[in-house]
Amino acid sequence: MRRVTVIDRNDRLVHHEDDDVTEGLHALLKDEGIEVVLNARIQRISEKSGDRVRVVLADGGREKTIEGTHLLAASGRAPNTEGIGLDLAGVELTPDGYVKVNERLETTAPGVWAVGDVTGGPKFTHISFDDFRVIRDNINGGNHVTTGRQVPFCLFTDPEFARVGLSEKQAQNRGIAYRLFRIPMEQVLRAHTLSETRGFLKALVETAGDRILGFTAFSVDAGEIMSAVQIAMIAELPYAKLRDAVLTHPTLMEGLISLFASAPSVVARTANAGA
Ligand SMILES: Cc1cc2nc3c(=O)[nH]c(=O)nc-3n(C[C@H](O)[C@H](O)[C@H](O)COP(=O)(O)OP(=O)(O)OC[C@H]3O[C@@H](n4cnc5c(N)ncnc54)[C@H](O)[C@@H]3O)c2cc1C
Repeated sequence: MRRVTVIDRNDRLVHHEDDDVTEGLHALLKDEGIEVVLNARIQRISEKSGDRVRVVLADGGREKTIEGTHLLAASGRAPNTEGIGLDLAGVELTPDGYVKVNERLETTAPGVWAVGDVTGGPKFTHISFDDFRVIRDNINGGNHVTTGRQVPFCLFTDPEFARVGLSEKQAQNRGIAYRLFRIPMEQVLRAHTLSETRGFLKALVETAGDRILGFTAFSVDAGEIMSAVQIAMIAELPYAKLRDAVLTHPTLMEGLISLFASAPSVVARTANAGA
């Protein structure tokens, strides 16, 4: 069996996400036999990936060496915009090298548009596809903008992690009060028939009304469950419409009834407001 080590400079995996998500993913990797090294500062890498490679990192003031056969660097993506004459065409870049666009995806050169990752927007295929729709409509005389659109995403681990709308961290940083609905997957009957009870579902609902502000699933088929909630969010359905729906037993969507029928905790505005 191959040994795998994940090295991350942050103190948590997917550190922008809520603690229950990062802890869930960490435990998942651990259970798969994957070692996770956090707070790592890489000092040097030597020899050759594909053969034998050695990574030396600083671990709390001491050096630690990890040896292996292959190294996969996944430290972010950079736009490929240098030296291709964009300046000659009058297409300006942002300080990070992305193509500068407005909310209609127009660049600084009249009649030149940009889509997808190169604009520096959320880097997902579905966002690139939506960018296409924005440009198509604008070229045809419309006024379609990228502002305010939902950015759902799914991490295709097993089980998956998917989120649409606000996480708890985001709500707290923005000073948004919410009701928190959260259930473990053990409470979803379909999860038992699938023998996939790992994870949880959680939803943030506004306190002044009943709209769903955000939904997170760390579960089997999380991406599909999230999409169902996303449709409810698009329709601005009060959460009770999902709670009171007659949904087929046993399906994963039926878990949404259990989720929204659970007792919520109320998280008031926090000191982080405005951060
Ligand atoms: C490992 C990985 C997994 C991913 N998984 C997902 C996922 O599950 N779901 C999801 O939504 N997104 C995922 N993404 C992100 C997704 O792939 C990108 O957001 C999406 O492909 C962006 O589309 P794009 O058209 O903007 O760019 P790209 O798909 O990168 O297309 C850009 C094209 O331009 C070409 N090109 C570059 N420079 C030049 C040049 N100078 N001249 C001519 N052509 C050039 C490239 O060769 C490429 O064909 C993943 C990305 C990675 C790296």
